[in-house]
Order: sequence, then structure tokens, then C-alpha cells
Amino acid sequence: MASLPEIVANHATLGRQVTGQLLDSHGRLITDLRVSITDRCNYKCVYCRTGQVGAQYAELSTEDYLRIIRNFVALGIEKVRLTGGEPLLRRDLTEMVRELAGWHTPSGDKLDIAITTNGHLLEDLAAPLKKAGLSRITVSMDAVDAPTFERITRVPNSFEAVVNGIRAAQQAGFDRVKVNCVLLRGFNDDQVEAFGEFARRENVIVRFIEFMPLEEDRLWSLDMVVSLREIVERLNKVHPIRQLTPTNPSETARRYGFTDGVGEIGIIAPVTQAFCGACSRIRLTSDGKIRTCLFSHTEHDLNKILREGASDENLQDFILRTVLKKEARHHIGEPGFLKPSRSMVHIGG
Ligand code: SAM
Repeated sequence: MASLPEIVANHATLGRQVTGQLLDSHGRLITDLRVSITDRCNYKCVYCRTGQVGAQYAELSTEDYLRIIRNFVALGIEKVRLTGGEPLLRRDLTEMVRELAGWHTPSGDKLDIAITTNGHLLEDLAAPLKKAGLSRITVSMDAVDAPTFERITRVPNSFEAVVNGIRAAQQAGFDRVKVNCVLLRGFNDDQVEAFGEFARRENVIVRFIEFMPLEEDRLWSLDMVVSLREIVERLNKVHPIRQLTPTNPSETARRYGFTDGVGEIGIIAPVTQAFCGACSRIRLTSDGKIRTCLFSHTEHDLNKILREGASDENLQDFILRTVLKKEARHHIGEPGFLKPSRSMVHIGG
């Protein structure tokens, strides 16, 4: 097995600066870490859950998450997204954000800290999170009318709670709040045009996500996916849109602006226009396992070596080796595609 200096040397042979850069064996720079801090969720979205809300996998202490994240940051992670399950269910979330907000990347920039949330508890938490130093918020919301939304989440009054959460985030000073919507044919595909209006009216960036085979139940089929092309065509019929220049090459969403300058839309199209070649992401599950791809069949148990008394150098060695195993791409929709070993809610979206 190669030693840490050998792995570092291997990175050097890939032709990049080594210090503070995490590079996989396909030459991709890994800068984004997504950490699931719980796999509990207070919603039971029909396309995600079977109806359970309780935990299926363990959670680590905040101290352990912070130690792991610190070691990723030492190796070159620049953005940390806290997710789940539902991250706002963690009682110590604000303290965790406050701690992370004081950290810097090896190149001296402030660590970028984001949260993906269903927004149900955001009305009360938006201001404390802003004060704690959270950089960005993404709220998931799959319909812009209350009955459809509540049919999807299976939680009464959820629509009102989430809209109030989004507005509270804006009032707290989060300026470019993103609203993510997964479209499913036959469930909520009638919402595209209404979401366009919502983006313009509420001054949020609405991002449509193509449905991926990551659900607890076996629902997914290619004909349930509402494609990027269809979304663009339908939005264009209501208000013309044009594609915007990407702000960075690993951006997951293709960005579109309405030509009258009011409102922005993003479309994340992992199924019909995969972006694996520019993937900069790596994930940590709530129970401390590294996943190199949403669709991985193997997990890498960082928590196990932490429990066994690993030093920071041991943890970094493990992370470097694991990153080198990152898959070149996913195989959604191809013959022989195997669903990953966990579903989205248990990986961290
Ligand atoms: N509870 C938080 C939330 O609702 O944003 C964070 C976790 S949730 C799993 C993260 C995101 O994954 C949500 O936007 C959700 O809609 C999305 N998601 C879940 N299952 C998905 C699937 N099969 N395909 C695409 N996106 C999915």
C-alpha cells in the first residue's frame, strides 16, 4: 500500500499544485464536501421516502463531524454543504455553523458554508443561522400550490411553513436563496410555469432537478423524468429565457435568465445531460462514511478509523486514498444500471 508521501507524489504527477488541493485519479479537483448531519427527516416526500421519518443510520457528535470536516478542509475542500435527512432537526446546528464560519481554506479564503433544507423549521432558524455565519441556503420545494405540495410532503400545512421559511431567510439577509424542485411526470410536472412566476415574484432562484433513481421505493423510470429540454421549451412559451454564462466550470445547474431581466432559473440535469466530467463533490454520510459518488456501491468508513484512534494524518491519508477511487461517471439509464446502496435521504442530497 502506498504511503501518504507517495500518494501526494502521485497527485503531483497529475500535474497540479499539491498543497491544499484534493485531486481524484481522473484529474478532477475536489472542492465541495456534502455532509449529512442526520438521516432523520420531518417530511415523507412521496418520491423519496416510503413513509418513515425516523433514523435508519447513526449520527455522529458535532465534535466528530467538525474534526472530519477540518481534515477535509486541510486537504483542499472550499465549500461545505450541511444536508441530510433534514439538517434543521439537529439541535446544535447553529453552533456547528458558528464554528465552521471561523475557518479558512489552505489558500486563506473563508470557508463557504451552505445548507440544503426542506425549510419547514426555517422561519425561526434563518436569522440565528445568518448571525452564526452561514453563507448560503437552498430550500427544497416541489410545488407552488399548497394542496399539491402537501400531497408530496405528506405533512399538513407544510406549504405555508416553507414559504414563510424562504421569506424569513430573505429578511435575515440571505440574498440569493435557491429553491430546488424535483419534477416527476404525473406528480408535479404541471408546476413548471408556476415556478417560473414564483421565481420572478419572490426573487428566488428556482432550480429544477431531474428525478434520479435514488428513492427508497422502486418508483424511478426514465419516462418519469422531466428533461431539461422540456423545461426550457415550456418556460420559453410563457416568458422568454436565455442561458447565462456559468460562474464556475463545476456548476451543477445550467443557469437561465428571463430576457426582461427579472428572475433566474437553474436546471440540474444529471439524467439527460450528465456533468460527471466536471464533478467536484464528495460526500460524508451521517454515520461517517465517505461516498465518492451519489451512485457508489462502496462506502469508505472514516468513522471506523476515527473510533480506532486515528490521528489527523491517518484521517487525511484515508481521505486522499478514497478520493483517488472516485468513479469516472454514473450509469443512470444504461442497461445493467444498479441502484446505489443507499437512497438520497440516507446519503445526503
Ligand atoms: N431535507 C433536505 C431537503 O429537503 O432539502 C435535505 C435532504 S434532501 C434528500 C436534498 C434534496 O434531494 C432535495 O432537494 C430533494 O428534493 C432531492 N432529492 C431527493 N430524492 C431525489 C431524487 N430521487 N432525485 C433527485 N433529487 C432528489
